[in-house]
Amino acid sequence: MLNYEIIPVTAFVQNCCVIWCDQTNIGAVVDPGGDIERIEDFIEVKGLTVEKILLTHAHIDHAGGTAQLAKNLSVPIEGPHRGDQFWIDALDQQAQMFGFAPCEKFSPNRWLNTNDKVRVGNESLDVIHCPGHTPGHVVFHSSSANLAWVGDVLFAGSIGRTDFPQGDHQTLIDSICNNLWPLGNDIEFICGHGANSTFGQERASNPLVGDAVTGL
Ligand SMILES: [Zn+2]
Ligand SMILES: [Zn+2]
Repeated sequence: MLNYEIIPVTAFVQNCCVIWCDQTNIGAVVDPGGDIERIEDFIEVKGLTVEKILLTHAHIDHAGGTAQLAKNLSVPIEGPHRGDQFWIDALDQQAQMFGFAPCEKFSPNRWLNTNDKVRVGNESLDVIHCPGHTPGHVVFHSSSANLAWVGDVLFAGSIGRTDFPQGDHQTLIDSICNNLWPLGNDIEFICGHGANSTFGQERASNPLVGDAVTGL
């Protein structure tokens, strides 16, 4: 089974997640935006062997701790999609703009795209490219656990901002309706900020992408 623990990090209270396969205790860290000592403490207390870092997108609250954590744990970085290269290149400016400590750049060991799979122990996550909030945003989906890590694509009752460079509102709506809804109403999702929800709940009540608005 795939387990997870949300560890809110940075001043943006970003939902960094440690996920792990309970048969092997092999895990991965999704979106280590910062506060990496707390992430490392959790890994140690749980006795997990973290083998990779997974990134949904390269905004600093999600990716700011990546270089340091990858170095500390000697693990590769998988994701996001190549479209977010310019956000990685701009991590310094992001740090300045949002009052973060200076952070190191990194080069993902593997760019991700739709139909890619990411292994975590005996578990496998499907990768879905969901541009709109950023052009290289990806979502991780576990069909065995009925869970999805959606970063800043979708929130309980809201959707991601699209007023950043290369953000696009309609592209984001299309990503959600065309790429996420087909996964099923019962999928619970962990988002970058705030509480979990399910795709069914959002289709029923989300004021921006609910079925009442989209006509689906
Ligand atoms: Zn973001
Ligand atoms: Zn965020």
